[in-house]
Amino acid sequence: MIDRNMQKLGEERSAIRELFEYGNALKRTLGEDTVFDFSIGNPSAPTPECVRETAIALLREMPPELLHGYTSAPGCEEARAAVAEELSKMSQIRVPSRLIYMTCGASASLAIALMALVTAGEEVVVPAPYFPEYAVFVREAGGTLVPVPTDPRFHLDFDALDRAIGKNTAAVLVNSPNNPTGAVYSEEEMRRLGLLLEKKSGERGAPVYLLADEPYRELSFSGKVTPPFSVYSNTVVLYSYSKALSLAGERIGYLAVSPRMKEGEAVFSALAGAARRFGYVCAPALFQRIVARCTGMHADFSVYEENRALLLKHFRGMGYEFSEPQGAFYLFAKCPSLPSDFFERAKKKGVLVVPSESFGIEGYFRLSYCVPTERIQGSIPRFEALLKEANGKIE
Ligand code: PLP
Repeated sequence: MIDRNMQKLGEERSAIRELFEYGNALKRTLGEDTVFDFSIGNPSAPTPECVRETAIALLREMPPELLHGYTSAPGCEEARAAVAEELSKMSQIRVPSRLIYMTCGASASLAIALMALVTAGEEVVVPAPYFPEYAVFVREAGGTLVPVPTDPRFHLDFDALDRAIGKNTAAVLVNSPNNPTGAVYSEEEMRRLGLLLEKKSGERGAPVYLLADEPYRELSFSGKVTPPFSVYSNTVVLYSYSKALSLAGERIGYLAVSPRMKEGEAVFSALAGAARRFGYVCAPALFQRIVARCTGMHADFSVYEENRALLLKHFRGMGYEFSEPQGAFYLFAKCPSLPSDFFERAKKKGVLVVPSESFGIEGYFRLSYCVPTERIQGSIPRFEALLKEANGKIE
């Protein structure tokens, strides 16, 4: 019998994917040059040479049946050890490889962590705006997503968090550098969050877990991102190489449990159980070995920096309202007119940006600037026209 809930989920719309497919169809019929597709966060920085060289070396060095064979369910030892070493260096806390579970990217990490740490009826507190798939993963784990507003710069609002986290809160899920806003939480902010969660865990009599979703960890323009393990013991890090190494299609990432967590081994077993339940054991073997040798490296992000500078200059000059992104590769700006009107007009001009509704907030649009710089340059006159139209100055 068909599980109608799964059918419904399969048919549920994803605003980002829908736009991405629409853009691809438009490019096929009208040509690449007429479409300014800023819908999806598909990295445009070239995958670094170390990835290609390691892939070639591994293909030459290792017997194919070994290279392409199963690894242990949580991953091969080289990969887990390399990740543990990097996290230890970053957080200045010794992280053992036995607390690392290699996954098929951050999506798998999210699905596994939420399935493992949220029981039916519990709540997951998420600062809004947030990555839309969070809603799906929380719901499928039997939980309820509780969105919490952020401040005008999209940083944490501690009064709102204090009110939202209660006896029924299983976890707080944060994402810094942030998709869609580009906000990067400061060290002080992260420390305050750690203290709040200590207090709330005490009141609850059970841990409120911090789930730190970090696929953009290396993409902070100030170079600073506070390691979540250093601020709170009941933390699980969810990581992906999709953006750091421009490997989005290869599906590789990991989950890491803090060595300071009291019931860390039990939490790791629950993660392993959830991974087993989903059939997510043994992440892609070739890419586990590649990332083992490329951990600590990242793609050359200069294209994002150039695109960001160009957008900030022009968007400021034109008069768009936005909070300057400090990381990731997204610009989150206010719609200059009624959103439905703005998105229709943008689409007609071949400009594809994502409405903010699916991120849990109204009235904004997200522009993914991980595209070739010419696409940004070409889109500027169109954004200018959109603003003029919104202000009633149609020329
Ligand atoms: N979390 C956030 C905040 C993201 O932006 C993304 C992808 O864009 C993911 C998770 C999923 O990443 P992955 O490609 O590793 O599944």
